Amino acid sequence: MTSYSSTGSFNRGARQGVRRTCDCGDLVGMWTAWTARNPGLRFVGCPNYKDENQDCGYFHWIDPQLSNNWYREQLLALHNLRNGQQNIVQEVGRGQHNGI
Ligand SMILES: [Zn+2]
Repeated sequence: MTSYSSTGSFNRGARQGVRRTCDCGDLVGMWTAWTARNPGLRFVGCPNYKDENQDCGYFHWIDPQLSNNWYREQLLALHNLRNGQQNIVQEVGRGQHNGI
């Protein structure tokens, strides 16, 4: 007779995850920060942030903070470059061969 008792309470651990709803009970919004301190970092927050009366102040970074200044500068520079020179992409394959 095999009997085993399951003492295993799997430790799920409350993952320090990103919540789907803020304290208002609304779905959080996701944005990307393009500040000098946190370029390119995504975060979620209360979707009612525009309204002072409704904003619950929920805010959570999704991406880890950048600890590397060089990396920050590169990201920001890249972002500014892309914004400033949107039409820099040129057609490469202009010369098409028309079969035989
Ligand atoms: Zn809220």
